[in-house]
Amino acid sequence: MKVDNLTFKGGVHMHGYKELSNQRPITKAKDPSMVYIPLHQHIGAPCECIVAVGDEVKVGQKIGEAKAFVCAPVHSSVSGTVKEITRKLTPTGMMAETVVIENDGLDTLAYESQGKTLENSEPKEIISMVKEAGITGLGGASFPTHVKLSVPEDKKIDFVIINGAECEPYLTADQLSMETMPEKLLLGLALEMKAVNAPKGYVAVETNKPKAIEILRKEAEKHANIEVVSVKAKYPQGDEKRIIDAVVGRQVPSGGLPMDVGCVVSNVSSAIAIYNAVYENKPLYERIVTMTGHGIKEPQNLLVKNGTPLTELIEQAGGFVGNPGKVIMGGPMMGMAQTTLETAAIKGLGGLLILTEEEACTGDTTDCIKCGKCVSVCPVNLEPISIHKLALKERFEEAGSIYHALDCVECGSCSFICPAKRPLVESIRLAKREIRSLKQKS
Ligand code: SF4
Ligand code: SF4
Repeated sequence: MKVDNLTFKGGVHMHGYKELSNQRPITKAKDPSMVYIPLHQHIGAPCECIVAVGDEVKVGQKIGEAKAFVCAPVHSSVSGTVKEITRKLTPTGMMAETVVIENDGLDTLAYESQGKTLENSEPKEIISMVKEAGITGLGGASFPTHVKLSVPEDKKIDFVIINGAECEPYLTADQLSMETMPEKLLLGLALEMKAVNAPKGYVAVETNKPKAIEILRKEAEKHANIEVVSVKAKYPQGDEKRIIDAVVGRQVPSGGLPMDVGCVVSNVSSAIAIYNAVYENKPLYERIVTMTGHGIKEPQNLLVKNGTPLTELIEQAGGFVGNPGKVIMGGPMMGMAQTTLETAAIKGLGGLLILTEEEACTGDTTDCIKCGKCVSVCPVNLEPISIHKLALKERFEEAGSIYHALDCVECGSCSFICPAKRPLVESIRLAKREIRSLKQKS
């Protein structure tokens, strides 16, 4: 296999624990008897509810309409009856208007293919289909994809990069998708390239997924303008700006966007969802979720319907091993710890990680020993310890103006490496929030 081993400066090497689930095939999760679908699952404005209690709905039927540009519609994942419209907590910790639907088990579809393909669809049509399908960034950010593809006229896009790094430990949904759906993934990428008029596409995969690289390279032989490159297995290789740097050697400026350097970066599952939207007219109402960690009995990759209760997913993965120490939506580095399991799957749920009590106990925080490790691993060249000290003294303005706290991508590498177990990323996150609020006031 040709090894490019492209990378960036900084970052950390860690045990990936991918072996817990990366040999387990994607299996369809059991159909839930009731789904709880929030109408706000993305960055931007919430959707407006367009169904009422008692309505009959079908699989893929729109139940939440996007009234704002930065918003993505929401669709039913089952066929059945709307039982309740209420406010419920989502795994992101946010309260959202939620449509509760009783599943009739018939799986009656609300959509069928319109015969659209890469060849017969126009750029504006692709963007419109992406919007109608409710596609968002499925790597965790949940930014509406049609907004990302709506490039202003004064910007030129040279490259679309599929982020196949999946550098967060434990998560394997992207790896399985790359290995089993290479055709859909590359057609999804080609559709994105057409939408933004980009002449070249890349799929960047970490070297620890040789099977995915091999399969994708074979598939890429059908596409003259798509190249599959291997990037070094290092965290946070999958950060948008780091992957651009590694693959095309361009640096997104502080406060800038990938499109400022001619790039659009897309997640693996999002590109496959784009294929589904165009070729099958299928909205985004299900996704692959990695159920993993030493705190769950049977780690695996499940195809999960939006709105499925988390408790049902845990049950299907064999239940907890003893008492769980921590349940995290996503990976251990950038994921969100759950305070309750009374929530349901959303578009942004790519994994559910269950740590044991022993793993969740990180040990006591001690004084900084000035080892400088946090500085050497920071992929953005920040001084995490300096920002941390200023944040503790509530000197947020200086943390921003002198130490550029807002450039932190919250990757957590500094906290991970710190021998004194200082809560660096937590304090930097706080500093960023305070700096933004100070800016709004001034
Ligand atoms: S300061 Fe921010 S970007 Fe740098 S290592 Fe820490 S969390 Fe990552
Ligand atoms: S890694 Fe931890 S102990 Fe070392 S300088 Fe940074 S904060 Fe201090």
